[in-house]
Amino acid sequence: MAETTIFSKIINGEIPCEKLHEDELCLAFNDIASQAPVHFLVIPKKPLVSLCECLEEDRDLLGHLLLIGKNIAKSKQLKNWRTVINTGEESGQTVFHLHIHFLAGRKMSWPPG
Ligand code: C5P
Repeated sequence: MAETTIFSKIINGEIPCEKLHEDELCLAFNDIASQAPVHFLVIPKKPLVSLCECLEEDRDLLGHLLLIGKNIAKSKQLKNWRTVINTGEESGQTVFHLHIHFLAGRKMSWPPG
């Protein structure tokens, strides 16, 4: 389970966010430091540290997070976007509460840096 992170504070309302969606399982909000014209995060309310800690019991939750992100992307009329999950410090993870980035609105390059 995750320690208290900035994302648990966003989930419990201690820290504000630009909310795009909330339900009993997850929250989606615009990234505070946008790396593209569209950049939002989908996070589970369950305090999972990263994808590495997810178990078989999290299967439906993980699918839910992706489908919620997809629904938000489609509601923004997007047809192209990049989905990123940084797992561990070396991958670029800075907040140790699982989150899925959705980025769009510009041409993306590959491989990522
Ligand atoms: O994958 P990584 O852990 O690096 O991503 C964390 C993301 O959380 C960053 O893109 C950062 O801008 C975002 N963030 C946010 N609101 C905060 C703190 C961090 O959107 N209050």
